[in-house]
Parts: sequence; C-alpha cells; structure tokens
Amino acid sequence: MEKAAIPYWRKLQRENFTQIKVLASFLQWPDSFLSQLNLTPRFVLNLPLRLAEKMAKGTLDDPIVRQFVPLKEETVLSQGFVLDPVQDQTFCKTEKLLHKYEGRALLLVTSACAMHCRYCFRQNFPYASQVSGYEKEIEEIRSNPSIEEVILSGGDPLSLTDRDLFLLLDQIERIPQVKRIRFHTRFPIGIPERIDDAFLLGLQKIKKQLFFVIHANHPKELDEEVVSALTKVRCLGIPVLNQAVLLRKVNDDESVLFSLCSSLVDHGILPYYLHQLDPVQGTSHFLVSDERALELISFLQKKLSGFAVPRLVREIPGKCSKSPIIYSFHSKMA
Ligand SMILES: *Cc1c(COP(=O)(O)O)cnc(C)c1O
Ligand code: SF4
Repeated sequence: MEKAAIPYWRKLQRENFTQIKVLASFLQWPDSFLSQLNLTPRFVLNLPLRLAEKMAKGTLDDPIVRQFVPLKEETVLSQGFVLDPVQDQTFCKTEKLLHKYEGRALLLVTSACAMHCRYCFRQNFPYASQVSGYEKEIEEIRSNPSIEEVILSGGDPLSLTDRDLFLLLDQIERIPQVKRIRFHTRFPIGIPERIDDAFLLGLQKIKKQLFFVIHANHPKELDEEVVSALTKVRCLGIPVLNQAVLLRKVNDDESVLFSLCSSLVDHGILPYYLHQLDPVQGTSHFLVSDERALELISFLQKKLSGFAVPRLVREIPGKCSKSPIIYSFHSKMA
C-alpha cells in the first residue's frame, strides 16, 4: 500500500517558532528586550511562522506579539489569578469530557494547539498525562440522552490528523440523540492550510449539523488566506462564528474591535462572544475592567448591526451558562 503523504500543514507546523532567541532575531529585537521577556515560561513558546510575520519588528508593543510572546509580566503573581480559574476539572465526566451546561458536552480532543496564546485558561491542564482514545467519552455521551450537541475542543481539534479526527466524528455520528457537532478551533488563524481539500471532503460527508467557532482577537489575524479557508467551510453550509477574548493592549480599543467585528461580518462570520479574561495565573497584565468592557460594547452597538456585536460574557464556575456582563439596572446607560 502506498504510504500517505505528510500533509502540507503538518510541515508548516514544524516550522513554528519554539525558541525565543530565534524569534528575537527574526523580529530584530535589541538585546535590551531580553530583560522584558519570560525566558523560562511554564507554557512554552509555540508560534506559527505566518503569525510571526504579522508582528511589527523591533517592538514588544504589538497586538500579535502580546498574544503569543512570553513577557516578564507573566511572572507577576496577582491576587485572584490562579491555576484553574474556571474549575473545569470538577465537571469532568470522564478524563476528557466536560459536561457543564445542559444539552451540550465538551470533548477535550487533544492537548495540542497550533499556537500557544499567553492568556489561555487551559494552559495549566494536566492533559499530557491523559490517555489516548475516546471510548469512555463516547460511551458517556451515548448513555446520556440529554446531550444533543458535542463540542470538539482541546487544545485544538484540528491538531488531529484527518484520520483520527474523522474516526472520532464517525463515532459521534452514530449516536442518535446527538444533533449538532461544534468545532472550537483557532488553528485556521495560524495555519489556514489545515483547511485543505481532504479536510473539506471529510466535513462534507458528515450528516449532522456542524458549526465552526473560530477564535480571532485582532483584525490583523484575519487575512485573505484565513478568510478564504473559512469561506470554503461556510460554503458547505457550516455556520462560522468567532469568539474573542478582551485583552489589554491587544483589542481593548474602539477602533480595533470595530474593525474586527466588521471584518468578520464582511466575510460572513458572526461575532459570537467577547470573553472577559479568565483569571489564570500570570495573565493579570491582560485584564480589562468590566466598566471599560461595557463602554466598548456600547460603542459597537451604536456603530454596527445587532448581529455584528458579540455578547460580552465571563465564565463563573458553578453557573449553568456563560454569564452575560450587562449594565446594572441603576447605572447610567450611555
Ligand atoms: C463555554 C462552554 C460551552 C459552550 O457554551 P455555549 O454558551 O453554548 O457556547 C460548553 N461547555 C463548556 C464546559 C464550556 O466552557
Ligand atoms: S489556541 Fe485556544 S486552547 Fe490553544 S493556547 Fe490558544 S486559547 Fe488556548
């Protein structure tokens, strides 16, 4: 039998920056920047080349740099910023199945991502120790008639090879009460080549309704290649939505959010959530106040169609859904 060729996206993945000194040279940083970096991060540097190419040279004050480069600020311990702020592990039905909200369950498909985002709330999960295979998870879903939607998350489900991914999808397809399958993925932002013909063909064969929820925080992340890959997904009748995280000095700005949301809807992608930061240890430099967040949303509401304004939410452990952040009744509406 002919050996399957290694897909092009896998080769690209191997070109990711993982050494901060190599990235420093690529981005033409002066030696004086070294003192501003976290040179021994617990969550290692992992950055696709095409995202590095979007970073401004010679500065750390750039929205893409701040999202992916381990800065010294990460070593600051702040009160309330802890290792597992969302306490996901208390909702684990099996090692890899989180069933927290009614009707939908989230499958931690893999620990691998195309990139490492510094604010990630899952950066401290002990995934690596988890066994492979999804037998227990599939059994748990099958035996629970209330689960009508399965969310493939991680890590990033698109880190799996097509073979593993479609084997898993096939198992989910066979569970009668599951009506919808949702991907939570940031992969296309870093390596849009992942959405290749073989992958699209595989998606086309799935009979249950699919949804794609991508994750872009800054309009610079949505270039022609990214948009064109996602358009191919949409053309299969798969709705594409975006979730973003509100991050200080990345997107806590009226014009940046306006441009992100308009660019999304211009390409048929609906802004779904704007998440307030989960207070993970080492991320307090990303925090934006609720007051400022509401100001930003209120700006977007004045400028954009209703469907182009994301819902501002936060994760509160123990609640039965994401919690909307809204103006309290007594506060003045702008
Ligand atoms: C966010 C989340 C979901 C999905 O919530 P939606 O509001 O439906 O997008 C599901 N399960 C878990 C554990 C989550 O954290
Ligand atoms: S891609 Fe998603 S899961 Fe992976 S590091 Fe970024 S935010 Fe976390």
